[in-house]
Amino acid sequence: MTSKLLLTFAICRLIVTVGLTVDPSEPLLGVDDQLSVDQFDVETASLDFGLLTRAEPMAVLHPGSAEDIARLVRAAYISSPGFTVSARGHGHSINGQAQTSNGVVIEMSGGSKGRRLGLRKLDKPQVSIKEKHVDVWGGELWIDVLRRTLEHGLAPKSWTDYLYLSVGGTLSNGGISGQAFNHGPQISNVYELDVVTGKGELWTCSEEENSELFHAVLGGLGQFGIITRARIALEPAPQRVRWIRVLYSNFSTFTRDQEDLISLHGNPYSQKFDYVEGFVIVDEGLINNWRSSFFSPRNPVKISSIGANGGVLYCLEITKNYDEATADTIDQEVEALMKRLNFIPSSVFTTDLPYIDFLDRVHKAELKLRAKGLWEVPHPWLNLFVPKSRMADVDRGVFKGILGNNKTSGPILIYPMNKSKWDQRSSVVTPDEDVFYLVALLRSALDNGEETQSLEYLTNQNHKVLRFCDDAGIKVKQYLPHYTTQEEWRDHFGDKWDQFSRRKMEFDPRHILATGQRIFNPPF
Ligand code: FAD
Repeated sequence: MTSKLLLTFAICRLIVTVGLTVDPSEPLLGVDDQLSVDQFDVETASLDFGLLTRAEPMAVLHPGSAEDIARLVRAAYISSPGFTVSARGHGHSINGQAQTSNGVVIEMSGGSKGRRLGLRKLDKPQVSIKEKHVDVWGGELWIDVLRRTLEHGLAPKSWTDYLYLSVGGTLSNGGISGQAFNHGPQISNVYELDVVTGKGELWTCSEEENSELFHAVLGGLGQFGIITRARIALEPAPQRVRWIRVLYSNFSTFTRDQEDLISLHGNPYSQKFDYVEGFVIVDEGLINNWRSSFFSPRNPVKISSIGANGGVLYCLEITKNYDEATADTIDQEVEALMKRLNFIPSSVFTTDLPYIDFLDRVHKAELKLRAKGLWEVPHPWLNLFVPKSRMADVDRGVFKGILGNNKTSGPILIYPMNKSKWDQRSSVVTPDEDVFYLVALLRSALDNGEETQSLEYLTNQNHKVLRFCDDAGIKVKQYLPHYTTQEEWRDHFGDKWDQFSRRKMEFDPRHILATGQRIFNPPF
């Protein structure tokens, strides 16, 4: 069958499935030219970075405007029983969150075909130098936002570690990295959004205008609308970054230092690092780890030479930004801040690089892993927000317990954030303490004959970690959450569940959007 025939067949299937009433003088859905059933498009939309689930959509939409999206969602909304619509940013979810098998996936970021069919019509990011903000299409990748804003000497304030993610995708979750302690997550750095709701209505929303929709959509897991435009806060871009890593063998010293550094956020005049992260090293295998290249070849490090306590080391990762005006004082500023810390003295690793190279650091690691065939493998990732008061238990039970001395095929991140930087009106849920940690097990499953690196083994370990937290009464919240029953979702949202489901009734009453999250039952 030719692709044109396949497309007509898919649209007819949609119409028959959903019982759309068709005016023969009108195009079938109003966006027919941008719909595709091309095998490549459908296959791409069926998978994500996790490579753990597969769901084939009936068709894929390459939108050329927010109105195209509104037209498609309206068709889904007015038809009975309806079809589902899932926005797909860059497909970097783990558990099929952007997939749907009963409807249409909207390729917000698009590949080359997307650009040909629709996306080429979209505006490039529009920077306002005076207002220090940028307006971007919801499917724009953060790397492109950065490149564009840097042309004006500006940059967003809050980041993710990896920039090949879409603006709509990260704003649907939170968007965190080592700047979050100071600037809050990406969702705390948005002024305004354009959103297509589950009724197919296109609204502009902000703190002042349609604020309920604004707060619902931020961290809303795609449940209330599709973000077509976001206005993002900017700051003057630094030119260079001093990037430092130091090691600890004692967990409480490590976390005390991390917490001390993030407590400096409140005072705009106090010196502070611009980025605070960290990771756990539970084995000798620093290889195959995005974070490892830093240590070598100029700075080779062997854990055995450091003397890890119980086989586990902790690495604090910090940066200080600077530019020409501050280049003379950067050394003293860093030195003064380092004096606060209690790391192992012989374990200081420092590098210096342009700002964009620092922000885009994970992409370099991606290219290396791709070259070794280690990027497109299953990723049973688990991200937890853990209350500060229970981190010592997580160290004992998880890092030194469940994860033990297994070789890790991926980083284990651990860094604290200030809850005060998270707007409680958004849809995200965080633990009930002023400071909470991200604990991220970002492991790849490898088919290399090593049992401890197999998908089954890592998945079991994730379950064990969750069970351990549950049994120990550690009130964690999953970040990028994945649950399969509504009971689990209610539990996840806790006090916020009523508000979350009320917002769903208001903005997507027919449960059309982002069904891959498996929060609400689809309409059929
Ligand atoms: P998708 O996977 O395409 O979509 C995710 C969800 O958002 C889906 O439910 C989808 O329907 C919905 N969605 C997508 N676009 C829109 C839109 N325009 N409007 C409304 N809903 C939409 N996260 C961090 O916070 N910090 C990190 O440092 C970080 N690093 C990462 C590194 C890698 C290598 C990977 C794979 C992921 C990382 N993530 C990180 C997680 C990432 O932020 C989320 O998985 C994010 O959702 C991925 O964005 P995406 O554009 O690929 O979204």
